[in-house]
Amino acid sequence: MSPRAQEANRTPKVKFLVDSTVARLSHWLRFLGYDAALDNNPGDAALLARARREGRVLLTRKRSLGTSSGFTTAVVRPAGGDASETGSASVAAAGSALLLSSDFVSDQLRQVASGLGLTLASPPRCTVCNSELCLVSRAEADGRVPEFVYRTRSDFAFCPQCDRYYWKGTHWDHAGLKASAALSGRRQRRDT
Ligand SMILES: [Zn+2]
Repeated sequence: MSPRAQEANRTPKVKFLVDSTVARLSHWLRFLGYDAALDNNPGDAALLARARREGRVLLTRKRSLGTSSGFTTAVVRPAGGDASETGSASVAAAGSALLLSSDFVSDQLRQVASGLGLTLASPPRCTVCNSELCLVSRAEADGRVPEFVYRTRSDFAFCPQCDRYYWKGTHWDHAGLKASAALSGRRQRRDT
């Protein structure tokens, strides 16, 4: 097993509930391999109930959610701070909420990564529906992906829930660089 795979296995499998105020963040967490359910329900009570029921850490920009009864707003360490596994597990206890401070998704990802000590928990999940992806052979992808992609790519994955194929390519590589930068606490060019 590679060092990165061993690290991923030791990392607590934190699950997230992402509300509509930080919706784009769910895509990035899924790319990193984390279970990140998106819930556009505007009602605080429904979001809190789901987070508790499913044992998820709620990610939000709504201050009302961060201070609701029974929930703890996690204290986020500054980027580059010591985020030990023990600390990460306690901060990420089911039923906690993490109040995010930035409008920018790259900063939000960096804040979650530094606060909870996230690492790559590969393989990625489907960025559309949050299901676990199945790695498939090149032969299995034949006829299911564009011909140019089939001829030029070698790594494929499949989402059994929404019948969607993924492959390593320019977008995947760019996303990987962005995610790695966030995990290491490096600042990036801001986007929304
Ligand atoms: Zn899917």
